[in-house]
Amino acid sequence: MSAFRTRFAPSPTGYLHLGHAFSALTAFDAAREADGACLLRIEDIDTNRCKPDFEAAALEDLDWLGCNWPEPVRRQSEHFPEYHAALETLAARGLVYRCFKTRREIAEDIARAPHHPGEGPEGVIYPGPPEPMSADEEAERLERGEAFSWRLSINACRDHLGAAFDRLCFVETGEGPEGETGEVRARPETLGDVILGRKDVGTSYHLACTHDDALQGVTHVIRGVDLYFATHLHRLLQELMGWPVPIYRHHRLMLDESGKRFAKRDRSLSLRALREAGETPETLRERVGL
Ligand code: GLU
Repeated sequence: MSAFRTRFAPSPTGYLHLGHAFSALTAFDAAREADGACLLRIEDIDTNRCKPDFEAAALEDLDWLGCNWPEPVRRQSEHFPEYHAALETLAARGLVYRCFKTRREIAEDIARAPHHPGEGPEGVIYPGPPEPMSADEEAERLERGEAFSWRLSINACRDHLGAAFDRLCFVETGEGPEGETGEVRARPETLGDVILGRKDVGTSYHLACTHDDALQGVTHVIRGVDLYFATHLHRLLQELMGWPVPIYRHHRLMLDESGKRFAKRDRSLSLRALREAGETPETLRERVGL
């Protein structure tokens, strides 16, 4: 077996659909071709939206598709303390800050920003607060038990890394949305001060995913091009935390007849519905163009 290690990392918030099948088969096929392994990771930090039934269904669907993965399967909801520890490391270096603001206050900050930060690839960019919160106010709010999220301070990261910040790169072996391929400059600043620790669950997709890719020795990240921009941020996190940098391969997304992305709400295209309608793993491969 080679050292090649990738992963398929669904969030069990619904039944897997054709888009997931394409993504899973792309990753599992790549592992087989490289004589490596494809891990299965359950990204269920959103404990409200993720359901054990959907997880069980995902395992069953993937098994039906012919995917094999090493056990044990990592379930992120069982590892909150680890993500918290990573946040503490960043906090100790002043790279993240507590944000107590409501959506509305965030919108006000954005409106008041000197240069309108505009929309980033992942929606509106939060450029950070006009001025940092005083230590007294922060202590008072904590004392009152107010909820907060942890945001990464892009300015602090830039100061911390110096010239290295502008040299962050990753290797793309697939294609970004604009056809980006090969060595790509990471531009985490295009995402603004993103949330690394959500108010509700204390971590975020970005942190948990990057943490786990490092911990699990993932050498190749294969995922949909919708996550291409997240990679710019993930690359920064790897630099800050001293985590290894995998090779990336972002793949095209499956679109429905009207050219829209598949969503979990399209029940008719869930793998279970297709299976019940007589589809086999072979016909399904054909359908997704593999
Ligand atoms: N859990 C993410 C999703 O279902 C995938 C994360 C990744 O592959 O990096 O969209």
